[in-house]
Amino acid sequence: MKKDEIFKNGRTKGKCTDCGAFEFLERSMGDWKCKRCCVIEKKYEILEDGRIRALRSFGDVKEGDIGGFIESEDNLSHDGDCWVSGNAMVSGNALVFDNARVYDNARVYDNALVSGNAEVFYDAEVFDDARVYGGAWVTGNVRVFDNARVSGVATVTGNARVSGNAVVSGNAVVSGNACVSDNSKENGA
Ligand SMILES: [Zn+2]
Repeated sequence: MKKDEIFKNGRTKGKCTDCGAFEFLERSMGDWKCKRCCVIEKKYEILEDGRIRALRSFGDVKEGDIGGFIESEDNLSHDGDCWVSGNAMVSGNALVFDNARVYDNARVYDNALVSGNAEVFYDAEVFDDARVYGGAWVTGNVRVFDNARVSGVATVTGNARVSGNAVVSGNAVVSGNACVSDNSKENGA
């Protein structure tokens, strides 16, 4: 994928595997398709109070389950087992996809992306252009922001702040009042 096809918020533009149109693509059953060709059966609806309700069962979510809050369907993929629950909220241009989970009182907003099998929970916040993916856990009172990346099986907890262009990966554990910022890398290997 050429660099100019990758947009700031991480959504990618490319050739739809079905119709060939050059469009923003969504993952659909392992392929990348444009919105028109996506035939994913919707897995949730947004209720009047902003909470989501499961329209079908997937993962450990049962049809009818009430989840957390999202601002629009652009915040949570209908594909995969991703889900927002508890009092968690995803808003702005943020997107939760794949099998990622956001729950408790967590907040994901701005252009943040949470994907893979990542979990964001307790009072954690992920915002700006930050990304949490792989099997990472972001919990406690943590803030992940700017361009920071948290991936691998890393755990960020306590009152930690991960910001700037920081990369926390591998099996790193960042906790207490740690601040990981600028271009630092925490690998934990
Ligand atoms: Zn298409």
